[in-house]
Amino acid sequence: MSIARLRNAVSALTRLVERQGNREDAVLEPAREILSSLIAYDDWLPEPFAAHDPKHYRQYLLHCDPLERFSLVSFVWGPGQRTPVHDHLIWGLVGMLRGEEEAVAYTPRTDRMGLEAGPARRLRPGMVDAVSPMLGDIHTVANALADRPSISIHLYGGNIGTMRRHGFDPATGTARPFVSGYSADMVPNLWAA
Ligand code: FE
Repeated sequence: MSIARLRNAVSALTRLVERQGNREDAVLEPAREILSSLIAYDDWLPEPFAAHDPKHYRQYLLHCDPLERFSLVSFVWGPGQRTPVHDHLIWGLVGMLRGEEEAVAYTPRTDRMGLEAGPARRLRPGMVDAVSPMLGDIHTVANALADRPSISIHLYGGNIGTMRRHGFDPATGTARPFVSGYSADMVPNLWAA
């Protein structure tokens, strides 16, 4: 199969937000099903959007809704790479495509300042994890494999690369604003043969 899987997912997501808007309570579950179907097969992601970088994890935009109601991003982790502790401020779904990731949720400590790490959650191909201001919005994600890249497909309820959100120092809880951007200036051709 080819890019048609991505095209079909983009069509289904566009229809979903057109019908129901992009609020978490209205679309998270149907959006999860669409993402699950997309990552059920690993035969559609074009090579340029699966390339890892030796220094830093990559976040390639696959599609952003023209009205910024959702975005789909391919995250490619080289061996040993991880995100800082960060938030999203909108709902997000992480679907594992290739390799394995470890996700850790963080919550404010009640006894003193700073953030407390929850249990590590291992994501394997076909699994979907969720983050959002309602479910718990602060986490880290890391490649769980030491010897090869891992790839997950992320779906967000907005244009994630342009959002002003936060990285955190877990020891103090201090937040610092950041805008992630995207790792490339191009997106896949959804209509390629
Ligand atoms: Fe994240």
